[in-house]
Parts: sequence; C-alpha cells; structure tokens
Amino acid sequence: MESALLPTYKRFDLSVTNTNGTIVEDINGKKYLDFGSGIGVCNLGHRHPDVQQAIETQLQSYWHVSNLYHNPIQEEVAKLLVQQNSGDFVFFCNSGAEANEAAIKLARKATGKTKIISFNQSFHGRTFGAMAATGQEKIQRGFGPMLDTFDYVPYNDLDAVHQAIDENTAAIMLEMIQGEGGVIPAKQQFISGLRQLCKQHNILLIVDEVQTGIGRTGKPFAYNHYDISPDIVSVAKGLGNGLPVGAIIAKHELYNVFGPGSHATTFGGNPICMAAAQAVLQHVFQSGFLQQVEEKGDYLQEQLIKKVGNLPFVSKIRGKGLMVGIECIGDVSSQITQLMQKGLLVLSAGQRVIRLLPPLTVTEKEIDAAVGLIHETLIAYPAFLHS
Ligand SMILES: *Cc1c(COP(=O)(O)O)cnc(C)c1O
Repeated sequence: MESALLPTYKRFDLSVTNTNGTIVEDINGKKYLDFGSGIGVCNLGHRHPDVQQAIETQLQSYWHVSNLYHNPIQEEVAKLLVQQNSGDFVFFCNSGAEANEAAIKLARKATGKTKIISFNQSFHGRTFGAMAATGQEKIQRGFGPMLDTFDYVPYNDLDAVHQAIDENTAAIMLEMIQGEGGVIPAKQQFISGLRQLCKQHNILLIVDEVQTGIGRTGKPFAYNHYDISPDIVSVAKGLGNGLPVGAIIAKHELYNVFGPGSHATTFGGNPICMAAAQAVLQHVFQSGFLQQVEEKGDYLQEQLIKKVGNLPFVSKIRGKGLMVGIECIGDVSSQITQLMQKGLLVLSAGQRVIRLLPPLTVTEKEIDAAVGLIHETLIAYPAFLHS
C-alpha cells in the first residue's frame, strides 16, 4: 500500500474500524480479542462508557486552556493520583517519555548532581533523555552520542548498583516490572536493597510506572507490591484509557525544585484528557476493582501454566496481575501473527516473550478463549526447531 507515513513501524495486516470493550473489529468485519489493550493503554477496555461520557461532557465546556490559567479539572485528577500514591504533587504532560524527561530534569535540579543509574533491557521512551535512560543498544543505535548522564547496570543485581554509585549519583531509575525488556519483575530483595542504598547515599528513587501503573498489576502502582515509597513516579499509558496523558507524581521535598518557568508544556493536562483520566482513576480506584484485577491475573497465570506452561516451545510464564509474559525458546513473531489470524491480539516483549496486557475489565470467558488460542498455536512448535 502506498503510504505518506514514515516507515517507523512494521505494521500488521490489520486495519481497525471499530472497538468495544475487549473487542477490536477490522475493515472486513472480523473480530479480535484485544489482549494488548493498545500496548497497555485502553485498560478499561475500548471506549469504556464512563470515560466516553466524561469526554463528551467535557467537550461541551472547554477543550484547551493555557497552563497560564487555573484548570480545576487538573487539580481534581492530581488529587486522585496522590491519594493512591506516596507522592504529594503532580506535573501533567502528554506521554510516558515526557513524564520521564520531567523526572530526569527534576532529579538533576533537586540534587545538583548529574548521574542517574538505569538498567539493562529497560525502556523509558524515545525522546533524547528517555532514550538515553533506556538500557538497550537497539533503541539508541544511530543516534549517538548519548547523554553521559546514565550508568547502565544489570537488573536485579544489587552489587552492580552499589558499585556504580559515586558522589555524583543523583538518582536510580527503574521499572518494577521491565515491560518492553521481557516482562521481568524486580526481586523483592533487590528493591529493599535499593531502598537502603538510596537512603544511605541520599539518592532519589525514580520509578517508571508508565506501563505498570494505574492498576495494571492488581495494585494502584506496581511499587505497592514492594515496601517502598519512591521519590518520583512516572505514569502515562493507562491513565487516559486512550487519550494522551502522562504525569509525574513527586514527594513534597521536591515541591520547590521546579519554580515557575523552569519546566512546562503547552498541551500537558489538556482538559479532555483530564476528563478521561478522572473517569479512569475513579473507576480503577473504586473499592473492590483492583481485587478483581488481582484475581483475574491469578486466573490468567494459572490457566497459562496449566495449559501452555508444559509445551516444548514455552520456557516460563511470569508476571503480576494482568501483565503477563510467556517466555519461549525462540523468536515469537510468527506465533504472534498466527494468533492475530486466529482472532487474538497480543504483544511481544523482546524477541522471545509473548506479552499479554488484556484490559483490566477482561472476563473469565475471554481469558479462557485467549488461553485456548494460545495453546492451539504454541502446541504446533516443537522445541528442536527453535533451540
Ligand atoms: C511505553 C513506555 C514508555 C514510553 O511511553 P510513551 O508514551 O510511548 O512515550 C516509557 N516507559 C515505559 C516503562 C513504557 O512502557
């Protein structure tokens, strides 16, 4: 197909025309179960009625006001975010990368130090600072030299972090579950160790919850699975259920670091996106909802372990809540295409991991159907072909 777009994506042969809940419909009227949620974005399912209603209502009053003026809906969304977070105040932007840029700038200005420790296989976004934070050669290739701000160390390796710390270390930045890197959860001891190191050396802890935040793992934020309270948390993907919005949530000690004029954005905190975010947060943080996410996540993992865990092509199933990885022994791209052809949309994470991020509203029936299709697909692959 002739396209006027830059070829920055290798696109699947699928043109979406309609969506509803977990279902995506293509141009031929074929229906798919969406277990990617638009890469962890439409966490309440496509076009959730509460979110749609909130957006439509907001469209009737105002669409954009400059951040030079008060914006009451931003205040309300910020309150909802801090109620569930150990942070105390919020800066709104438009994406995950921008949230991480804000986090990096805040940490450097607050400490007057320049170095930030980040991790191999991490992913923090595609803008210059966020790309530099990302510990993956393939993301940085061709764009060098990178900022010399970041020291990359192996994930879950406390000694390596210890050795990388010096008097110029401003912060440690990490995902609680590495998403793009392969759905790799941080170990409990590693995180307790980091907390100690940060305290001892007066280093800020930045947690990138762009993918794991807003209920994805069955807790408000993935760091809630661990006994920590980060200094800065970045969020984006699931916050607007499809509308572009990102944010950092930071501790009160950092309140005065960004004074007026030091960091800003034209679109950040856009009222339409805020209306969506407000509806999302009210829904996700209502009593009992995350309990259900946790139960559905357990069910999904149980079913996967039972039905596909022992297949020769599969080496490991792991994750938290509704963020689950199926690690395989070979490249998974053809399996992902086959799953699509059978009517199930899933993601990869690295080359060998099939990543599932179904909507938090997914039903047990939909989980059963998805696991059935995954079984039917992966059973066709014997171990020796791909070892
Ligand atoms: C997707 C993602 C980002 C980048 O978010 P964008 O909105 O694409 O800029 C950053 N960090 C993590 C952990 C992500 O998953």
